[in-house]
Amino acid sequence: MDLISIVVPCYNEQEALPAFYKEIVKTAKSMPQVRFEFIFVDDGSKDKTLSMLKYLHKKDSRVRYISFSRNFGKEAGMLAGLKAAKGDYIAVMDADLQDPPSLLPEMYATVKSGEYDCAATRRTDRKGEPPIRSFFAKMFYRIINKMSDAEIVDGARDFRLMRRKMVDAILSMSEYNRFSKGIFGWVGFKTKWFEYVNAERVAGQTKWSFWKLFKYSMEGIMAFSTTPLYISSIMGFVICVFAFIMACFYLIKTLVFGDPTTGFPSLVCIILFLGGIQLIGIGVLGMYLSKTYLETKNRPIYIIKETETEK
Ligand code: UDP
Ligand code: MG
Repeated sequence: MDLISIVVPCYNEQEALPAFYKEIVKTAKSMPQVRFEFIFVDDGSKDKTLSMLKYLHKKDSRVRYISFSRNFGKEAGMLAGLKAAKGDYIAVMDADLQDPPSLLPEMYATVKSGEYDCAATRRTDRKGEPPIRSFFAKMFYRIINKMSDAEIVDGARDFRLMRRKMVDAILSMSEYNRFSKGIFGWVGFKTKWFEYVNAERVAGQTKWSFWKLFKYSMEGIMAFSTTPLYISSIMGFVICVFAFIMACFYLIKTLVFGDPTTGFPSLVCIILFLGGIQLIGIGVLGMYLSKTYLETKNRPIYIIKETETEK
């Protein structure tokens, strides 16, 4: 009998958890041919999430939990859950029911049939989201796909069901700066996409502010592409060529027509322009350097405070 592990990162989800648990149990009941384990990762929640998980574990032995010592972010939560999962098939989903558990039977059948290694989901619209956020999201996907080898699908959710082999491949990527949308694409494997209409979260608040999303997208680009570094080199090269041509032009002009001293404003513009370009270049370099710095420190990606086996 196959075992399916459901990994659920939870951060302050006391409002959504009961509804989620009810739904997932319903789905599990509708699939009597498989066994389930539910791995909830409490990402340093400040509300009653952990005590709820303890209660669920007592009531239902399929419920396992991992609790972090502080908030390490969803990426860390997913990693901890995937590491702990024992299943032949492993699914990742959010606790807020934005990922409908009712899709699971179909996703499982798809992967089980052997034709696909992964069943992933993407949402087809961005309703219920501020238009400006949708706009930046679209831009982000366009840019990152131009820059990176890993295919990163627009609107892809983290909700997916994977074969053991794919999860092992993901776990073999030990990087500190984890951008799982990129990691899922980078490991490859055959993926079938399920589409569904975006649902509002059942309860509680989204943890993503615009600024957090912006930082996250920058991290994604840096984790899966070095194109920004090339761009600054190319920009430097283009400007050098331009400056050389200009120098020749003014040299000849001065020799032929004499030199009434003009051009002070243009000089200031050029100095400012070059200063700006240089700072951008240094900034880009610095961002990559900072990522390298964090990788070389080799810090743990998360710290576990307690799990259901060791209290
Ligand atoms: N989450 C987490 N750690 C965080 C932020 C979020 O584990 O630091 C979890 C959260 O509990 C939820 C999932 O990640 O299960 C998605 O978060 P959210 O619903 O806030 O994001 P959105 O659906 O708005 O993109
Ligand atoms: Mg959500």
